Order: sequence, then structure tokens, then C-alpha cells
Amino acid sequence: MRYEDVYRRSIEDPESFWAEQAEAIHWHVRPRAILEYDDPPFRRWFAGGLTNLCYNAVDRHLDARGDQLALVAVSSETGVTREISYRELHREVNAFAAVLRALGVGKGDRVVIYMPNMAEAVFAMLACARIGAVHSVVFGGFAAHNLALRIDDARPSLLIAADAGMRGGKVIPYKPLVDEALAASKHPPAHVLIVDRGLDPRRSVVEGRDVDYATLRERHLGEDVAIEWLESNEPSYLLYTSGTTGKPKGVQRDVGGHAVAMALSMRTVYDVGPGQVMFSTSDVGWAVGHSYNVYGPLIAGATSILYEGLPTNPDPGVWWSLVEKYRVRTMFSSPTGIRVLKKQDPEFLKKHDLSSLKWLFLAGEPLDEPTAQWITEGIGKPVIDNYWQTETGWPVLTLLPGLDLKPIRFGSPGLPNLGYRLRVINEASGEDAKPNEKGVLVIVPPLPPGCMTTVWNDDRRFLASYFGHFRDLLYSSLDWAVRDDDGYTFILGRTDDVINVAGHRLGTREIEEAVATHPGVAEAAVVGVHDELKGQVPIVFATLKQSNTETADDVARGMLKRVVDQLGGVARPARVYVVNALPKTRSGKLLRRSLQALAENRDPGDLSTLDDPGALEEIRGKLARGPDGAG
Ligand code: ATP
Ligand code: MG
Repeated sequence: MRYEDVYRRSIEDPESFWAEQAEAIHWHVRPRAILEYDDPPFRRWFAGGLTNLCYNAVDRHLDARGDQLALVAVSSETGVTREISYRELHREVNAFAAVLRALGVGKGDRVVIYMPNMAEAVFAMLACARIGAVHSVVFGGFAAHNLALRIDDARPSLLIAADAGMRGGKVIPYKPLVDEALAASKHPPAHVLIVDRGLDPRRSVVEGRDVDYATLRERHLGEDVAIEWLESNEPSYLLYTSGTTGKPKGVQRDVGGHAVAMALSMRTVYDVGPGQVMFSTSDVGWAVGHSYNVYGPLIAGATSILYEGLPTNPDPGVWWSLVEKYRVRTMFSSPTGIRVLKKQDPEFLKKHDLSSLKWLFLAGEPLDEPTAQWITEGIGKPVIDNYWQTETGWPVLTLLPGLDLKPIRFGSPGLPNLGYRLRVINEASGEDAKPNEKGVLVIVPPLPPGCMTTVWNDDRRFLASYFGHFRDLLYSSLDWAVRDDDGYTFILGRTDDVINVAGHRLGTREIEEAVATHPGVAEAAVVGVHDELKGQVPIVFATLKQSNTETADDVARGMLKRVVDQLGGVARPARVYVVNALPKTRSGKLLRRSLQALAENRDPGDLSTLDDPGALEEIRGKLARGPDGAG
């Protein structure tokens, strides 16, 4: 089947297209309507249909593949690998669901899950889905403040936490963070369920509030907990966006639309079917982790690899060793992850048998051409950039090798995914941008199945954040994009990442791309800073590859030359700072707003999502000492 034909049908005849896709999942009661859209932009896919995510991810596979691996949880931190079949998964999820029930959790109740990439995090999510509770996973690397904010927004009746996480061999106790978060929150849950891995022997226990999972599991193991059938549009989970641009939004996902979108994308985009193996390096705390470590692969009857640990531990070949060991077919990671490897010896890409691997998908951030080239050559496999947001839950732009692979174009996440009616809008005129003209990427509502249904408890914020930007009712991605003559779309950065130099509007992404073509550069961030004369000027912060032998001054001059050669003098950065690390969110996204604030001598703002506070300190010092390659 040709991509063009299937895509056209998904747009021109969405109800028949989605009716057909809905056949891929199990319905307890079939939908009375494929789409109800009488209150735009709110929409109800598969209205009246009753289904359950846990049933589709687990129970449904028991007969055909009970002994097949469902989940492999590998930790290079604890050294433990757990191989869990669908039958075992069913048993563990039932036990977990029985424990939730015993703690008084029921349909519609929120459950905050604060755990690293360990098997029990997956059991907990599926157990919530089984009984109709709404999980909200909070990334285990977040500090008490972030956790408290999310608790107060979600108002959970239970919090499930691990005793501790680990990073690079260092134990990070979670319990003190939980205690601090609960003390600071206005709506603390009645109970905290602790999954103890024995990592923190000094862990405190609050009598009457804290309960131990192992004890309760023992009591409930072997019980069968009935499936709670949910109407397709009821909430399945909440997930907060990364907070790169401000206060995180509580993205609310539905049940039926999500299940159908997962089934469709596993087949057409990720090309993974029953019995095949997918390895996503994401954390369960992110949207990719929800969709392609948990729900997608399991709904597809595939095996999902979940990895806890650094990409460089015990050595930078660890991911590829898992591809070899489990015969991974499709791998999913992020540009940030690949750039970590890019700083290491490329020989590690060659040490393992990658013959099972067909595709490497990357998402989460712009994939610059040099990085795409480096990893494509390094592993000798097609590398597919795909663009999406926590809000959408599955790719908006991608290529679809499971359906019909169109040529890869470096720098572009490709073409509109099935069901997504996309436009690029000229910001000033509100009209469609011409090919090769920059605009804002928007989705024409109704949003396809699987995309967010609203902001939790805040329909007004949903409307104001996403639908209030243009004359027409359009979902703004808040990202700049340009579409070429063939419909390939390039993402040029966020709408708040634009620099205005003497009246010229420049995307930070374009300058970063030019800078990154320098062979010594590992990663670069460009921000605009205030300038008396020009309004704003671009400045560059860059890290260098381990293999680089040039001086920082020489590399800086080389970067400037490349920008001028590729983009012209107007884009020439005013200053270049070579540093050891760039500030990123815990989800691996560059915090340009903090860099910009520091460079303009302002308060860097809310740093609670910052991964490594040391990076900002270094940059402060560097700014005080002066740029590289000056003169
Ligand atoms: P917040 O919305 O709270 O500021 P965030 O936008 O960083 O946080 P996510 O939903 O995790 O939260 O990230 C989605 C964003 O990541 C996209 O809007 C886009 O800016 C960027 N992104 C994701 N994938 C790609 C890609 N393939 N190419 C370019 N940018 C991408
Ligand atoms: Mg966003």
C-alpha cells in the first residue's frame, strides 16, 4: 500500500479509516459512533465503546503468547535483569491491582507513580489501567518541588514510590523527596506505597501512612482482579509536559483512542508486530515511555525492553549489547542520547551483532544532520527522525517503514502521520505558508485518536494554550516549521526560540545546525541576547567531542565561519562560549530560556526541571571570563 493513499483516506474519510483501525483492539462493547464532534475542539472518538488498556495489553495475549516475553527490565545500575512473560505479567499486574483495591483505590482515582525504569513501574501503570484508576507517572529524577506541584494538581489518593533510584552507581533515595513533597503539598494522598529494592537501608517509615509493597503483594498474589470496562473517552492517565517553556501542563489521555493509536503506530510507523522486540531507551516518566515502552509494544503483543542506567555504563556499547542479546528489531531513542554516544569512541557501535535491528527511531528534540549522519554510518541502519509532543502521544511527523518507507531526508522528521491534518501557518497573515516559507505548525482539529483530550481539570487552559493563536480554530504546536516542495516538514525550533537581528527573524535551530557541522562540536545551543544596536544578536554555547584536538579558540572561529558561509553575515553569532555541559531539562531538552537569561544577566527562572545544576554554574563563570575565538 502506498503511504499517499492511506494518508489521504485517513484525512478525507476519517470515520471509515478509524472504524477500520478500531478493529485492531478488543472492545467489550463496540462504539456507537466513531467520532462525535459537536463541541469543537473537544471531540469524542469511539464514543460509547467500552474497553480497557490493561486487557488489551495483557489478558488478550494470554492464549496465544502466554510464555512469550512481554517485558525485559534490565538495570545496569543494580545489575538485575528480569525477563517477564505475558503470563507472569498478568499475575504481577493482578497482584498489584489487588493491592491497589485493598488500599481503597477505585475507578477515576488518581495514583501518582514516582519510580525509575523498573518492572514494578510497569505493573503499577497496568494495574491502575485494570481498575480504571488514572495514573500519573512523575519522572523519578524530579525533585520534591516538581513532585509536590504534580501532586497538588492531580490530587492522588495514593502515591507509589520506589525506595530509591540509581544513577551512575550512586543511590538516590526517593523516600526523603517523597516526605518533603508531601509535607509541601496541599493535597497529600492518604497512603504511600513503597516498592523496596533494598537500596536505602536507612529509609524512614511514617506509621499509618507508608505501606510496604512486598508485604501486600505476598498477601494478594494469585488473586484475579476483574477488568473495569471504561468508556472510550474516560481518562486513562495524566502526564505532565516537560516544562521546557514554562509551567507543565497536565496532559489527559483517553482510553479507546489511545489504544487504537498505539496499535496503528506500532504496525505502520515502528514496524513491530506480535512476537517481535522493541527497545525504547526512554524513561517511563516520559510520553515515549508510556507509549512505546509500555502500552504500544504490549498492545501489539511484542516484547518491550526497559532499560535503567546510563548509555555509557558499563561501557558505551551497552544499548547495542541489548540489541544483540534480545534480537531487537526496532530501537527508539533521542538525539540527546545519541549525542552522548557521539562524545565516545565510535568503535563501540561496531562491537555487537546488530543483524536483527531494522530501524532506529529518534524523537524529542531536533535531530541535527551531523548527528543523524554519524549514527547512520556508525550502525549502518536507517535512522528515522519522528516529531511529536507529550500532548499528541504518538508521532505527528514521521516516515512509516511499516507501511511504505519514503526516502529519509536528514534534518526532517518527514511527512504527516496517518490521521494528522497539518498546516504551516504564516504567523503574520494567518494564511498557509508557501512551500519553503516558515510558519507555525498546526493540527487542524479534531485532533486524531490518541492525542490529549484536555488539560486535566482545566479545559480553559487547554483552549487558551493550544487553540487561541489563530483566527481559525487550530491546534498550535508552538513550533516553527517549513515544508518543502515534496511535503517534507522541517522543525525550526519553538515559537519562543526566535531571534530578531536587525529586523531579520532567525530560528535558533538553523544556527545550531550550521555550528554543529564543525567536526569538533558535539552539541550546540544558540540563544538571542539583547543588543542596543540590532535588537538581538545570536550567541553560541557549545560542547566539544572527546576526539577534538583543536583549541577552543580555533573551534570557535571555525564555527563562526560556518555560520557565515551557510546562513550569511546577518546570522553571525556575536560570541561563542565553549563549555563542558549545556543546561538540559531532565527529559534531555536544551533549556535555552535559562541560557538566555544568564547571558542577559537575568534570573534564570524556575530551574526545578534542570538536570545538572553544575552546568549553569559553569556557564555563569564562563560568561564572566569571556568568549572563545574573539578577535
Ligand atoms: P513544555 O511544553 O512543558 O514546555 P516540552 O515541549 O519540552 O515542554 P515535550 O512534550 O516533552 O515537552 O516535547 C515536545 C517538543 O519537543 C516539541 O514541541 C518540539 O519542540 C520538540 N521535539 C520533539 N520531537 C522533535 C523532533 N523530532 N524534531 C524537532 N523537535 C522535536
Ligand atoms: Mg511543549
